[in-house]
Amino acid sequence: MGIPTVAIVGRPNVGKSTLFNRLIGKRKAIVDDQPGVTRDRIYDIVEWSGQQFALIDTGGYLPESSQLMDAAIKEQVDIAVDESDLVLFLVDAQTGITEVDEQIARRLQKSGKDVVVAVNKIDSDREDQENHQFYRLGLGDPVPVSAMTGRQSGDLLDVVIKKIKKYQYDDEPADQIKLAIIGRENVGKSSLVNMLLNQNRAIVTEIPGTTRDSIDINLNYQKRSYLLIDTAGLKKKRKIRENILFYSNLRTRRSIQRADVVIYMVDIQEGISRQDIMVLAEAAAQRKGLVLALNKWDLIEKDYKTSRELEKDINDKLGVLKYIPKIFISVLDKQRLYKAIDLATEVYEERKKRIPTSELNDFFLPLIKANTPPAVKGKEIKINYVTQVQANPPVIVFYGNHPELIVESYQRFLENQMRRKFGFSGVPLLISFRKK
Ligand code: GDP
Ligand code: GDP
Repeated sequence: MGIPTVAIVGRPNVGKSTLFNRLIGKRKAIVDDQPGVTRDRIYDIVEWSGQQFALIDTGGYLPESSQLMDAAIKEQVDIAVDESDLVLFLVDAQTGITEVDEQIARRLQKSGKDVVVAVNKIDSDREDQENHQFYRLGLGDPVPVSAMTGRQSGDLLDVVIKKIKKYQYDDEPADQIKLAIIGRENVGKSSLVNMLLNQNRAIVTEIPGTTRDSIDINLNYQKRSYLLIDTAGLKKKRKIRENILFYSNLRTRRSIQRADVVIYMVDIQEGISRQDIMVLAEAAAQRKGLVLALNKWDLIEKDYKTSRELEKDINDKLGVLKYIPKIFISVLDKQRLYKAIDLATEVYEERKKRIPTSELNDFFLPLIKANTPPAVKGKEIKINYVTQVQANPPVIVFYGNHPELIVESYQRFLENQMRRKFGFSGVPLLISFRKK
């Protein structure tokens, strides 16, 4: 998915987060008057007039203290310049141009980057002239907008789209399996990539990724082509110090979004953390294929039951995500590294799988008859029919008389039965209920 990237910058409270949510088309998420509030989302895809681009909200991490503010804003602008094709510089019509706005403008001018200045909080026609003062920033025609009401947001998108048209990246071949290697610091991600590289010198090509400093690696193995997404992001220990977390989150999210399958690495000595679960859940919500690679197996003292015990322990922590297949690897000892790639390939195939409607009904209808959904408010609940409406990623729909009354535990039951019978190992399933 070679799409252009746009980053929003601006000082606190100009409305970056509101605009971000407006443009990605989600209704107003948590927006706080207080600067420095952590955002839910910092990266998402925008679609407008048949064109897509990735949008980054760089404003979420600013420190509360004003001494740190200058440095933080510089970093914000630097990240935006590094990571995007176009910078959307947001200013506030109600405050006019401030000193910080001028600083940002100077920095953007020096960068030579494409910039669109958007003047926010122009909520009505009456205020439409307010944006003229922002010509003084020297960054071209300011575009009025109201992030809060959505007023003129379409016009703003038109301007943005026009400017980023030239940043279309070549599409990756469709039969290529896109893998993102994700995990906390020091779990062995770059070691794994290096190992795969070293053993395959002849058939590896590094190709520019979707931003200037990202590198994807094309790997050919067993007659298949793989794309290891953003391998540079794994190694890069950045000069930016304050914002490592923001930065690595951004990088992680972007990689997940592009991937077919996520190989999530964990250091088996440290085990799986809450943060790991959160990232896995996010990847599952995006319905990416998932593999859990438990690395540094060489460091574990083991007997015949160690792997089973560890796996059970991890499954307990994974909860509803326990359908993710696990593999113990050691990058150091080159143990099962290609098995991990094979496993990711299996998950990729499972994600593309389509179960014929007849097979689904032959299996589910008798099962449902024997285990009827619990009645709610005295209403008998029936399921009449099931079909897979989509593959890659899969969507399965159950039709019945009261789709809204199916309880969660019953959904879980159906999902478990689906996996028991039809596999879908490592594949998040979207199961929905409709009336018919
Ligand atoms: P950020 O710190 O730049 O991300 O700013 P926020 O998105 O958190 O918004 C800061 C404040 O400005 C919030 O109180 C928003 O409700 C308000 N705001 C955002 N956009 C608009 C707008 O278009 N018009 C008006 N009047 N207020 C807005
Ligand atoms: P990253 O931050 O996830 O990219 O992790 P690195 O690849 O930089 O690895 C972090 C450290 O773990 C390095 O010192 C590696 O040599 C070490 N390491 C990686 N894989 C293994 C492994 O399988 N076994 C052992 N014992 N050490 C490993």
